[in-house]
Amino acid sequence: MKPEDLVRPEILALKAYPVPAAEGMVKLDAMENPYTLPEELRRELAAVLARVDVNRYPTPTPQKLIDALARRMNVPRGMRLLLGNGSDELIQIAITALARPGAVAMYPAPTFVMYQMSATFAGMKPVAVPLREDFSFDADAFIARMKAEKPALVFIAYPNNPTGVLYPEEDVAKVIRACPGLVVVDEAYHAFAGKSFMPRLPEFSNLIIIRTVSKLGLAGIRLGYMVGRPEWVEQFDKVRPPYNVSGLTQAAALFMLDKLEVLEAQAARIRADRAGLGTALAALKGVTVFPSEANFILVRVPDADAAFQSLKEQKVLIKNLHPGLRNCLRVTVGTPDENRILLTALREAL
Ligand code: PMP
Repeated sequence: MKPEDLVRPEILALKAYPVPAAEGMVKLDAMENPYTLPEELRRELAAVLARVDVNRYPTPTPQKLIDALARRMNVPRGMRLLLGNGSDELIQIAITALARPGAVAMYPAPTFVMYQMSATFAGMKPVAVPLREDFSFDADAFIARMKAEKPALVFIAYPNNPTGVLYPEEDVAKVIRACPGLVVVDEAYHAFAGKSFMPRLPEFSNLIIIRTVSKLGLAGIRLGYMVGRPEWVEQFDKVRPPYNVSGLTQAAALFMLDKLEVLEAQAARIRADRAGLGTALAALKGVTVFPSEANFILVRVPDADAAFQSLKEQKVLIKNLHPGLRNCLRVTVGTPDENRILLTALREAL
């Protein structure tokens, strides 16, 4: 017996989410915050983690952490939160709950690959609606397609990955109003965008917001949160594996929420450096820069495969999106030093 005889054909056809080796590289491929915690905070965190009883299962619904998140993230009154092992898991949970036979999951594309992958895992029909050439969002075309496909679930990354584009708020609101299903607005990059649907959550009965602490500087702890009306979240909670957020993660998150200003200052720094990096990239011959509201920048170069390879040889790791996005590379905004190294290496690579 071979796996091919038993594994579902749509899984056989997939490739595993690629995570390249990064040891010894300037790592600008995964939208991480490049700054580590200050030494003093690391020590305090170590003391907090030392007190976690790791012989016990974690609290399945850590109310203190949930309340702290609700307070610090300005969650509107009456909304409920659900925690996930990264927002990846929350995407999977929403899909699992809504994957009736034949149900459609729809999203503007190119976008975060896990919408398509998780939909496929669960047996939903993924429907990608192309963005315009410049990666802007054609809301009317999307709405027309929704009328035909009647999606159970729509994903809007706000701002979008891998393009960095933040769609106009009213276009997204129009889609939510017109959608016959549930809309998940994925605000993974909200810390760099300064825009959010959080305050407007009470306005729509079919809106869920998911966020992550990953891009804010805590990618290593794996914590995402979903916010929505209790009647939706109650259903998703049934799909959640019972101990999906580890006790160490819960303790670290609660501790860091109290020190959020440290991470927010880092995010502000990254946002400011994004502008300088964008200008410097645009000044390189043959490089087109797409405007970004996230902590990364999408560029088009004459030959993305060659540029990527040359950067790799120069020990700079970025994301090559070619051929899916023709000759496009995505670079995470790093520290000023890393950004300088990237620019020097890219100049050499072009
Ligand atoms: N949503 C978007 C749009 C993303 O780009 C990512 C990470 N690349 C995620 C969700 C998942 O983030 P995490 O699982 O780290 O919370």
